[in-house]
Amino acid sequence: MARKPIIVGNWKMNKTPREAEEFMKGIEEVLTGNENADYGIGAPYVDLDVCVRNAKNLIIAAENCHELDNGAYTGEVSVPMLKEVGITYCIIGHSERRTYYNETDAACAAKCKRLCADGIVPILCIGETEAEYDAGKTADVIKSQLAGSLAGLTNEEVAQMVIAYEPIWAIGTGKSADKDIAENCCKLVRETVKALYDEATAEAVRIQYGGSVKPTNIAEYMACKDIDGALIGGASLKVDSFKEIIDATK
Ligand code: 13P
Repeated sequence: MARKPIIVGNWKMNKTPREAEEFMKGIEEVLTGNENADYGIGAPYVDLDVCVRNAKNLIIAAENCHELDNGAYTGEVSVPMLKEVGITYCIIGHSERRTYYNETDAACAAKCKRLCADGIVPILCIGETEAEYDAGKTADVIKSQLAGSLAGLTNEEVAQMVIAYEPIWAIGTGKSADKDIAENCCKLVRETVKALYDEATAEAVRIQYGGSVKPTNIAEYMACKDIDGALIGGASLKVDSFKEIIDATK
């Protein structure tokens, strides 16, 4: 069965609720439904409610969650809280969270497991640093991050997930990965899922490329066999550029 493409913006720590509302109204006005692909926005916690309330065609994703349901974890947000707000996807293990907040593969696995239990789709991010890329360690990093971050997840759970391959050297640098590099790495992600699970799971899981994706380069990534979509930072912040990206994938 063909995989449905999925294009998601990641706002990171940008936009107040008022700015989020403005974006949502602006984009929904110009966005016509497209049944052939999923489009979404990952937004800061405080923006989620206003985004969900203004979403007609867009999926709204959280950018993180806690793996436990409640308790003494000051500053954290649980999956039941996200679910009640109407969240259906959640970005997990973004390289910025792995780097600045010491998020481990084990923590990512626990978060993905908890999200799946409530039917929220994890968008699990993986990817190597520039030093690892230069040292020829990309494949090892991809395999070990996947083994660790998917630990304990079932075939059915992984089949529903989205995995975003985001080489850290391409994030926010304007230095997007060559499409052949991106395709080879996304292919390796699929092969690794096949080795860890089975062929049906690997064929079902949707794999995104992320790192300096723009209106001008999205089409070449989307044309690659193992790339089912993109996770987009900077170019998702303005209605115009995000719309151009959406239009380029129709
Ligand atoms: P940029 O598109 O700004 O490079 O960010 C990519 C990213 O980190 C998406 O999660």
